[in-house]
Amino acid sequence: MSEQESEDKMLEIVAQNVRKEIEKLMLVVEQSAKDAKNYDSSLTDFSGSLQSSTSMEQIKQAVLKVARETQVMAAQNQKLQDQLSHAAQDMVDLRSDLDKVRKDSLTDPLTGIGNRAYFSEQLAHVLQESRETGTPVSLLMADIDHFKKFNDNYGHLIGDEVLKLVAKTLVENLKGRDIIARYGGEEFVIILPHTTVQDAARVADSLRDHLSTKQIRRRKTHENLGIVTISLGAAQYKDGEDPQNLIDRADLGLYAAKQAGRNKVVVQNENN
Ligand code: GH3
Ligand code: MG
Ligand code: MG
Repeated sequence: MSEQESEDKMLEIVAQNVRKEIEKLMLVVEQSAKDAKNYDSSLTDFSGSLQSSTSMEQIKQAVLKVARETQVMAAQNQKLQDQLSHAAQDMVDLRSDLDKVRKDSLTDPLTGIGNRAYFSEQLAHVLQESRETGTPVSLLMADIDHFKKFNDNYGHLIGDEVLKLVAKTLVENLKGRDIIARYGGEEFVIILPHTTVQDAARVADSLRDHLSTKQIRRRKTHENLGIVTISLGAAQYKDGEDPQNLIDRADLGLYAAKQAGRNKVVVQNENN
């Protein structure tokens, strides 16, 4: 089952549980409305029998009857209260299920960072803020160099470990406000709010530099497999620009960095 299919399935299960919960509640409320109505007519009967009672004994009988029914009603109310608080707890659980589905739908399962859907959501948000406040936003597009060769040489599983290492290194060397996501196979994208492209290029260079200091080792044998490097393209958001255009421009920078020999950062400006 694909990731999307399993999320859809999970969402369907949660929706089904919500429907069941509401049906259960409707039954409980319906029953308790009936009970209250019966109790109400018992009280009316009681007031009628008080008026027509001629002896102490009759009054005593009527009081006993209404006391019994009041007890029943109180027990039923208690039951209703228990069922309602149980339902409220179920709703809280369902809500956290929904939060989890949402979180999963925005997370890349291999590296644990945001996925492309997360990136799109965040980019829209940050660009909106930039339009409102006039603050600069830059975008970095990063791609692992010669990753195919790495996979071919050492296997896909070690390739996956490298993807995790790259993601971890990027996360560790970014600041709180910066937003990182896995854009595709071995491509990462980084949104830098409140950052000009000159500063973004410095950030990119420091990320590139940090990664190039990490030696990759086989877990079991500790055999040293060398390093992996990344190339990065940087572009700054132009007010009113289509988000896809910004992504394309960062990608042009990335392409230029590959052309220039890899393990490099290239800023995309109007002239290239
Ligand atoms: P370049 O320096 O030009 O980027 O070369 P490259 O080999 O990195 O680029 P190319 O696009 O030819 O190959 C990308 C490779 O990334 C293909 C695939 O083997 C690998 N890859 C993509 N996604 C994954 C993944 O999830 N796990 C692993 N292990 N490898 C992946
Ligand atoms: Mg690639
Ligand atoms: Mg690559």
